[in-house]
Amino acid sequence: MDMAHRRIGPRKTIALVAHDHRKAQLLAWARARRDRLESHQLIGTGTTGIMLARATGLEVDSLMSGPLGGDQQLGARIAEGRVDVLIFFWDPLEAVPHDPDVKALLRLATVWNIPVACNPASADFLIESPLMAGTYDTQVPDYEAYFAERIRDL
Ligand code: PGA
Repeated sequence: MDMAHRRIGPRKTIALVAHDHRKAQLLAWARARRDRLESHQLIGTGTTGIMLARATGLEVDSLMSGPLGGDQQLGARIAEGRVDVLIFFWDPLEAVPHDPDVKALLRLATVWNIPVACNPASADFLIESPLMAGTYDTQVPDYEAYFAERIRDL
């Protein structure tokens, strides 16, 4: 697939999501990294977002709750180029009712080349990266080229 570039400025949009059994872990991580997080724009699925805002005092744009559509809202924002980093503490030990949405979110994050952290160690490596504070040109699918090719070939 042809790739295009998307420039990400120093203020990143970080999406945060945690399944119920991992919410405490994400809240603890976010409290400990509050200083790092506050220079960025935060969004989250409904329950995670509200809990994060309460725990850190930071503003978090809270979408719908994950099982009711929040994961899909986040996926749509990723496809629209409105999310720069995804921190997603999904539950590796228990199934969730919205497993297809979870897969879809992780899939779109891969398609759109979004850095993803699924545990505290990966989240630390991401948040401590010098790239978080600078400008970064990320490669994304060239939608115009992709679409033109489809129209030509179908
Ligand atoms: P929640 O959704 O933040 O509303 O709990 C998270 C999820 O299950 O995707």
